[in-house]
Amino acid sequence: MGLTVEELERFVTGELGQPRYRAGQIADWLNRGADIEGMTNLSAPLRAKLSELAVANPVRILDSFKSKIDDTEKFLYALPDSNLIEGVLMRYHHGDTLCVSTQVGCRMGCAFCASTLEGRVRNLTPGEILGQVAAANRHIRGDDPERRVHNIVLMGSGEPLDNYDNVVKFLRLVNDPKGLNISLRNISLSTCGLVRRMYDFAAEGLPVTLSLSLHAPNDEIRRKIMPVANAYRYEEVLAACKHYIEKTGRRVIFEYALIKDLNSDVRHAEELARRLRGMRCHVNLIPLNDVKERHLAAPDRRTVDAFLKRLELKHISATVRREMGADIEGACGQLRRSYLKDESGE
Ligand code: SAH
Repeated sequence: MGLTVEELERFVTGELGQPRYRAGQIADWLNRGADIEGMTNLSAPLRAKLSELAVANPVRILDSFKSKIDDTEKFLYALPDSNLIEGVLMRYHHGDTLCVSTQVGCRMGCAFCASTLEGRVRNLTPGEILGQVAAANRHIRGDDPERRVHNIVLMGSGEPLDNYDNVVKFLRLVNDPKGLNISLRNISLSTCGLVRRMYDFAAEGLPVTLSLSLHAPNDEIRRKIMPVANAYRYEEVLAACKHYIEKTGRRVIFEYALIKDLNSDVRHAEELARRLRGMRCHVNLIPLNDVKERHLAAPDRRTVDAFLKRLELKHISATVRREMGADIEGACGQLRRSYLKDESGE
């Protein structure tokens, strides 16, 4: 699943010792979500050999939970080495959106995030990132043969730019007209702000929407909740965003988790508006999702509304993110954690 067409051809003619047209047959099966045993135009011995060398679908849905409130569906996936990751499928009027993970765990250490509590276990391969989309497609096709993932947000567990090469390869694979053929314009990549990688990414010529996890109006507050703010200054992060806007012509989305008594006062909204003035951007306000292990909470609704109003007053485009899947632990890293705890009998 993680191979480009050319790589698949090389694998088929090399390791597999088969004529080139077999690559096309295998690719067709992969696109249809088949397993190796189901590739019926390959002979049984060939399928056996293929099974020894490769995995067709590296990601399996181990469990799924559907919200009774809004149809949001949460997946717990298993990887070939038994690691677990998770994902969320959200139904919007513009199509199904899948939130995918890029790493098992995360090493960025943000104070409010459940994905990072045990650090990074490992990077996901391009095939494992793509495999999440394929697994979700197989799952929803059962409900409705026409349904499939239309939009992707790289906002699950992990820091995409900390797994740079695999994420870039995934983006090229998922966009391949012979593959899932998902438009890059329907994909958002969220980063905590690895500035050097942001410049690299701007040079890749991949017009995905960049989301930047800002979460603070200044370095002082940002450093309290995001260790990455010690590596890159606020102004450097904004400069990298401006560069991305210039390069791609796309606006940047700033994610701002509102946290009680920390970053949610109207003063902070004023300061944020000052710093973002003149940028082609949108601010996505997210009342913090409580994470049991962290002593941080969301502010009340009035504080959220006042923050939003102040940004609007200062001509900053902003919205409050609608909460989805509130009854199924929709937020980052929560499901995997509760599953691991059950397993360990905690
Ligand atoms: N590592 C990337 C992408 C993963 S997280 C990044 O940092 O952007 C996707 C978004 O969810 C990020 O903006 C992240 O800061 C936010 N997030 C994580 N935990 C959260 C919580 N408990 N409440 C609200 N937002 C949270």
